[in-house]
Amino acid sequence: MHRAAKRPSHSAHVGGFRIELRRRAEDSAALRALTRICPSACFRFGAGDRIEFSSENCTLCGTCRQVCGATGEIAWFAPDRIAASPRLA
Ligand code: SF4
Repeated sequence: MHRAAKRPSHSAHVGGFRIELRRRAEDSAALRALTRICPSACFRFGAGDRIEFSSENCTLCGTCRQVCGATGEIAWFAPDRIAASPRLA
């Protein structure tokens, strides 16, 4: 049976949130700055000088969400929290 190659993952689940790196044609200066300012060193330069994301030590400080809020390269979702929330009347 043929199995598709596993796609590189650029998202991570942290504390009930999913943080997703949404690549653009080029990494923005804001995204590149996260290699210096993420307090948990979750962003680093990888192959082709592109930014890679690993949530290993993420503390959900929110810095990446703020810094890349205008570029759309970092998205946060809360699927676990949404599923656990009571329905709105
Ligand atoms: S939430 Fe904070 S610690 Fe986690 S990846 Fe973003 S900047 Fe780094």
